[in-house]
Amino acid sequence: MSEQLKFDAVDLEGPKKYFSGLTPQTLGHAYLFAGPAGVGKKTFARRLAQSLLCKQPKPGVLGYDGTCSSCVLFRASENARHPDFFEHEGVLKIGDRDVAAGFAAGEDLTARDVVRQLSMQSYSGGMRVLLLGDVDFASPPAANALLKFLEEPPRNVIMLLTTAVPGRLLSTIRSRLVEVRFSLLHESHVREILLGMGRSQSEAELGAALGGGSVTQALAALEGEEESLRAQVARWFFESVSGKSPEHNWATRETLEEGLQTLKTLVRDWAVLSAQAGKGLLMRDYAGELSKLPALDDRATVSILAKIGDAQRLARTNVSPAMVSEIVRMVITRVP
Ligand SMILES: [Zn+2]
Repeated sequence: MSEQLKFDAVDLEGPKKYFSGLTPQTLGHAYLFAGPAGVGKKTFARRLAQSLLCKQPKPGVLGYDGTCSSCVLFRASENARHPDFFEHEGVLKIGDRDVAAGFAAGEDLTARDVVRQLSMQSYSGGMRVLLLGDVDFASPPAANALLKFLEEPPRNVIMLLTTAVPGRLLSTIRSRLVEVRFSLLHESHVREILLGMGRSQSEAELGAALGGGSVTQALAALEGEEESLRAQVARWFFESVSGKSPEHNWATRETLEEGLQTLKTLVRDWAVLSAQAGKGLLMRDYAGELSKLPALDDRATVSILAKIGDAQRLARTNVSPAMVSEIVRMVITRVP
């Protein structure tokens, strides 16, 4: 019977293997899916939720039949919710303490809703699953509400949190979550997903080639209007180095870590070109623009890289992304 069950997510080897090894008895209360944007963390979490709520008996935790009354609710329109599946994306606010009623479809779930809803009996008498996608907290009380919940999890409640920046979570919260790592996808998987989204063969090929292992990036590349993060960061870098104030800021919570790493790579290539060393360039397509810049000596290189390193550490705190990128801009603008 279990061979007929589906688990329709990309071949995410690590996560799939990990959950395949679990049974309802060994399943934890709370998981953190950590990994780059656009690699299927939320999709995997939704399929896991569907598996856990599917009525078809199975020995493990993965797999659903797609036809039972519970699965039908997962197939229903976006607005219809499975009564035992709660999903929220982005910043979680604390919420109004006095509202006694539960939240309704279309409303924003708040930390207090989470606590209230999950403290109640489940609809079907089985499990309840909470998915907090790209989780972030509006305030310390919102984070504390969830923390309290994690300290004494109600029976049969599974919480799935996803993030591209695990370092931003309070360590007290993170320490109570089982972390499951998601990595960049193989090009062939990105192509497969794009085809599944109705893209043509040639679009899927192109998107996969430009996506760098992320469906989000692949879609952005296909839209054409939206530059890839790498291109945005490079343009910002060249504008900043030449003393112009950049027109567009690339820095958001989601892009900060990757963007800062791209900046380090650009500075590294700039130093390699300056030293006329025979070392290979990492961002070869920017060699022309980099070679027009004044030469960068060793001392300046070390100092800039150290300051971007400081910014990377700041990026993991509550300092705003705009502030972090501004600090870096000051550093590279002042290069003689
Ligand atoms: Zn089912």
